Amino acid sequence: MSTLLIHTGGTIGMDKTADGFAPREGVLEQVAADLSRQQMTADPLSIQNLSPLIDSASSTPRDWHRIAATIFENYASYDGFIVTHGTDTLAYTSSALCLALSGLNKPVIVTGAMLPLTVEGTDGVANLNDALIAARTAAPGVWVQFAGHRLHGARVRKSHSRAFDAFEAEDWTTPPVIPAPQLSLNPVALNKVGVVSVTPGIFTDPVAYAAEHCDGLLLRCYGSGTAPDTPDMRAALARAQDRQIPVIAVSQCPEGGMKLGTYAAGKVMRDTGVIDGRDMTPEMAYAKLQFCLTQAGDLEEKRQYLSTSLCGEFTV
Ligand code: ASP
Repeated sequence: MSTLLIHTGGTIGMDKTADGFAPREGVLEQVAADLSRQQMTADPLSIQNLSPLIDSASSTPRDWHRIAATIFENYASYDGFIVTHGTDTLAYTSSALCLALSGLNKPVIVTGAMLPLTVEGTDGVANLNDALIAARTAAPGVWVQFAGHRLHGARVRKSHSRAFDAFEAEDWTTPPVIPAPQLSLNPVALNKVGVVSVTPGIFTDPVAYAAEHCDGLLLRCYGSGTAPDTPDMRAALARAQDRQIPVIAVSQCPEGGMKLGTYAAGKVMRDTGVIDGRDMTPEMAYAKLQFCLTQAGDLEEKRQYLSTSLCGEFTV
């Protein structure tokens, strides 16, 4: 069973610098090769660095595409894939990989660490070791292997900024893969996506600006789907509708998701054609908007794409 490890950067492969931790070539590669040898697998591990290694705070949809394209181009030569990644945007990337690779029938394991491999007590060795095993044994799809858990790549979120056990995912019934007879690479480019969180007494100018200038809008609304119904909010969302740009709403609650229509206070969104993001994570909703905007098509096609659960990203 051969495995390709794609190293993108992140804490796991960082070392101390005068400015704080930063990625350094060689840190992860050595440990991964040693672990692979210790696991005594017949096939050696191959490692590709996505140069330059980055702190994942700097990642963009172009990086999602580069990682997915690397898997796509090497697909026939390996039985499983590992992506080592910074934890800050790991959930965005795993969501994006689910959308980028339709018809995946091999495991893609995304992992990282909260403490660098260069620091004593690091969680990176255990995560890397588990990821090497998962790349040979996990079901097809995109999984996040972290702190002993194997989590659904389309439903995962970073839930803790310091603890080793830093990721969570809601229960799932559909595996993290878009079913298709063969592998295809769905492109994603960088589009202008506005992200706005509603708040009590919200200053709506940023919503109006986003409605006027963005290609799509992600609204983080309250609870099971409510937002302040003010004339300014209505006007901003109506402007987005006039411009035929997709607006999708997800809940600010980490669990449970939303159901537009539960409360009259969600009417402002229903009246203006806002799409119900159900229990999608904000990370997935953002990634899905970027993919949806990259594909040509009118608002109805975009609405269809965003409202369909493609890889188990929301509960049907
Ligand atoms: N800032 C780091 C990153 O996301 C954090 C980490 O990897 O844990 O690249």
